[in-house]
Amino acid sequence: MIAGNEVITGTTSCRRAEKIIEVKVRRVSHTVTNNLQDATRKIDRLGFVIVEIKTESGHTGIGYTSNGAGGKAVKSVIADYIAPKIIGKDPFESSVIWNEIVSYLRGVGRKGLVFCALSAVDIALWDLKGKLLNLPLYQLFGGKKMPVPIYGSGGWTSYSDEKLVDEMLSMVNQGYRMIKFKVGVDNGSNLRRDLKRVRLVRKAVGDEIKIMLDANNCWDAATGARFANMVKDEDILFLEEPVPADDIPGLIKFKQSTDLPLATGEHEYTKYGARALLADNCVDIIQCDAVRTGGFTELVKICAMAEAWNIRIAPHGRENLHLHLAGVFPNFMALENLIMYEEITAKVFLNSPVQHNGYLEANDLPGIGLILNQKFIQENEEN
Ligand SMILES: [Mg+2]
Repeated sequence: MIAGNEVITGTTSCRRAEKIIEVKVRRVSHTVTNNLQDATRKIDRLGFVIVEIKTESGHTGIGYTSNGAGGKAVKSVIADYIAPKIIGKDPFESSVIWNEIVSYLRGVGRKGLVFCALSAVDIALWDLKGKLLNLPLYQLFGGKKMPVPIYGSGGWTSYSDEKLVDEMLSMVNQGYRMIKFKVGVDNGSNLRRDLKRVRLVRKAVGDEIKIMLDANNCWDAATGARFANMVKDEDILFLEEPVPADDIPGLIKFKQSTDLPLATGEHEYTKYGARALLADNCVDIIQCDAVRTGGFTELVKICAMAEAWNIRIAPHGRENLHLHLAGVFPNFMALENLIMYEEITAKVFLNSPVQHNGYLEANDLPGIGLILNQKFIQENEEN
């Protein structure tokens, strides 16, 4: 290397280069038969759209997004529109790739299915970078291996009061110290029964267990705030999505009407969606989800923005991905285990981490640390 007239010895280029040679996308799911219904929606299918990105050196990164409504379209966006654009690219240029795909598809999707597709691809690129460098993702992000608090999440509005209490008690018996269940029974029209259910669960699990509630977009701000003020004596950690996710004025009004902490963000896409929540002061706990919001590339930026606002992060679901960010951000609050995903997660991944005593810990494998069950995926692949 030459600097001016001087020859500097002892330095070699450390630049790594890899080429993507193949993008494979498959999807698997199962029918939900046990009547899982929240205040505004019934869950009929659950599963994963799985992306595998292979490089010339034989390494393969894996990523995923959810495969329910829209899964077939997400697969098509990846296979037909994103894959041809990234063949030949270097996975270490993941941010460059992210920006190119966003520009390419901006006219047909700055939120929604296009971003679910991009998220799965971005997660696979980060997994690939971890594998190429032989580092777990939490280490690549600057974090460390640590037990991360995780809460159990279920308790559907379609449950009887008895079934709700049984499920919450079963979570506590499995070791969870934090639990979340649905409110907004009878399409959000029966606040007294919601209050009764909260009191029944509080009485059953005792004072030491942290309880969170999810209204799944069902109320207007006045009703949400009224309910929040009815239940706040039950020591509720937060109330989630009391009004539609896009009702920013409603979220602001809710926050001005009650001191019960407000959680939202699982339906937001990109840093811009998160910026609106933070800048308008309508969130206390932000819940953006890597498989929707734009993968790790975007979620890392959102977490940093939330840190600057001193707002806590508790990402929606996908605990086996989000645990890699927990040690990176001091405002990281907890992971969520959506109990309904346990069955399909255990089938699709050979080694997805499971919680012990209310904590989840990453393994020592590189990247996201997940190994696909290729046999199950091959035998159950949907077109
Ligand atoms: Mg939710």
